[in-house]
Amino acid sequence: MTLHEATIAEGMRPTRVEVNLDRLSKNLQAIRQRVAGRKILAVLKANAYGHGLKAVARHLAPLADYFGVAVLEEGVLLRQMGLQTPILVLGGIWERQIPDFIRHDLTLTASSVERLEQIEAAAAAMGARARVHLKIDTGMERIGVHYYNAHTLQEAALRCRHVDVEGIYSHFANADSADLSHARLQLERFMEVLDFYARHSLPAPPLRHMANSAAIAALPEAWFDMVRPGILLYGVYPSPETPRTVPVQPALTWKSRVVYFKVTKPGHPVSYGSTWQPDRMVRIVTVPVGYGDGYFRSMSNRAQVLIRGKRYAQVGRICMDQMMVNIEWDSAWNGDDVVLVGEDDWGNRIAVEELADWAGTIPYEILTNINTRVPRVYVSSAR
Ligand SMILES: *Cc1c(COP(=O)(O)O)cnc(C)c1O
Repeated sequence: MTLHEATIAEGMRPTRVEVNLDRLSKNLQAIRQRVAGRKILAVLKANAYGHGLKAVARHLAPLADYFGVAVLEEGVLLRQMGLQTPILVLGGIWERQIPDFIRHDLTLTASSVERLEQIEAAAAAMGARARVHLKIDTGMERIGVHYYNAHTLQEAALRCRHVDVEGIYSHFANADSADLSHARLQLERFMEVLDFYARHSLPAPPLRHMANSAAIAALPEAWFDMVRPGILLYGVYPSPETPRTVPVQPALTWKSRVVYFKVTKPGHPVSYGSTWQPDRMVRIVTVPVGYGDGYFRSMSNRAQVLIRGKRYAQVGRICMDQMMVNIEWDSAWNGDDVVLVGEDDWGNRIAVEELADWAGTIPYEILTNINTRVPRVYVSSAR
């Protein structure tokens, strides 16, 4: 039987995402073991990589040292749930939102001297203190002060009276490639930036951090005081090149059910654009999932699914809300589970990486693209 099938609400859409919470906590523990003693900032942006922000945050709150989100609103949602875990908003900030960060006790990323001064001014005006991490750009060219100008931000921080500089961080552009030379260059640049504190006999901010999932797996020198796992926490590796050094398992299964069955004859093409037709009589089932749910249309005629322990080809264009699967001359019944991503009850698996291949994208986009109209079901039982 499927994990806790009984907990699935009556009448729920047959298309749903099941998130195995035990796997999430085991993944976090596996990362913790790997980085021995470093703090862990669990990255929960983009609806916790599609796994559902609230439930994942509630489950991981006792296990993580810090949470990371991309935007203010994600952080506010976690505070409104009553969670007390420190939360770093990783993205650039918009000046008018600064008071809301302070009000909700969210840690701000100061990515320029100007931003830092705006944070200082807002905190002073509120008679409050702001907790800040300085962001250094060591080779991503996204946000942050360039490593070669970092001292301007570090010096500006020394002048602030209403800001607690708790952290300083940078982000890798290429830690997931086989060739780590650019990552090592970024790491050297970051270490030079950190030297500022020793040179001036100043204490460094207590949380120096740089490692994303790829660097956790491949680059121990980059772990510093805290690491920032995102995709690895969900049990997926950032790229095929990343060494498999942390024993994690995918936490997400995306399933639907057979809702229609028919026999299709040659000369009768399937779906919009008539891109596929059988060369003999076949059995075709319809599955109520489509690109409106985040099942990419670009996977049309390439994707595969699992039904009754076997892999079958998706055929014809994927529609917004439905798609067709060719089960050859096998049997399937209305209500049968269709596994789109993850494991079936026979131990077969479709990896997120396969969908990424079919869609011409990366596993991150497959996960974050699963639309919120797909209900998330949380299961917890060791398999
Ligand atoms: C998204 C993000 C991460 C996590 O990246 P993964 O590759 O998913 O581990 C870490 N740090 C920053 C700044 C990020 O934006």
